[in-house]
Amino acid sequence: MNEQLQILLNTVCRAAGAAGEIATDTASTLKKRAGELISAARLRSRAADLRRETDAALRQVGEMIYATHTGHPTDSDTLLSKLQEIDALRQEIAQTEELLSRQPERVCPACGTAARSGDVFCRACGEKL
Ligand SMILES: [Zn+2]
Repeated sequence: MNEQLQILLNTVCRAAGAAGEIATDTASTLKKRAGELISAARLRSRAADLRRETDAALRQVGEMIYATHTGHPTDSDTLLSKLQEIDALRQEIAQTEELLSRQPERVCPACGTAARSGDVFCRACGEKL
């Protein structure tokens, strides 16, 4: 294997442990965000944006590694910061999906109370759902 590529990959392996540390912040951030009222549509839109950003960042990482393979080595720090950016993006996608999974499927048109599956009338005000 190309020596520069090997050096780059070694650096990436050493950084692998850092991804786990970021996850410890997830719970508190999630708790804070769950308190905010965020519409499901906005969350879905945000998740789609984050996935596009992640795809672009992954492509850049691929280009950095390929450039190294072809004799134009990428600086390790540049690659690492891009990888950490992807860690953060994936963490945010997971948080967004978690929030989406907590969104009630239906709400009462009169009072906004969340309906459970199978409800025909609102449990709070009796409005037909
Ligand atoms: Zn109601």
